[in-house]
Amino acid sequence: MRYITRSGKPWLLLVPNYVYVKEWYRSAVRRVAAVPSRAANPFYVVPAERYCYYAPKGLGIANAKGTARKAKETKTSPFISFWYVGGLGVAGTAAAIQAWQRAPSAPAATLAQSSAALPQNVMDEYDPNRKKLSKREREKLRKKVSRDGKPLCKTCGQIWGNCRHTKT
Ligand SMILES: [Zn+2]
Repeated sequence: MRYITRSGKPWLLLVPNYVYVKEWYRSAVRRVAAVPSRAANPFYVVPAERYCYYAPKGLGIANAKGTARKAKETKTSPFISFWYVGGLGVAGTAAAIQAWQRAPSAPAATLAQSSAALPQNVMDEYDPNRKKLSKREREKLRKKVSRDGKPLCKTCGQIWGNCRHTKT
């Protein structure tokens, strides 16, 4: 993160949702915002289907909460992930967002201009912007089929049969 915010080059990261609430991420964003020529904040591109992945097994690897995994923790929670895009500068960011909004066909993803604009279903559990929903409301919001009508895993939201919960 330090490297990418100092390089002054555009960057695109596919990382878990808990990253944007981390203090080291937020302070890196603030540092970049203090440089007038690069003042634009990053934006976020959230795919219509949830990207989830699992960390490799092993010790010393952070679990989904970002704390070191214990030896007995073989099952890891899936990470909800999306693209973080930055380093484009003010004009570049505005141009990218405009190009996105003018795209002839609706893209299979959502562009959030700030972390506060992220869809509720990908917000980190520690994000104060995330609304506390009842179980019933969460179930209502949960996507059950993909854009092309394939059923999705109830646990991680990937297409049925593709994840470890639904693999037969
Ligand atoms: Zn699954």
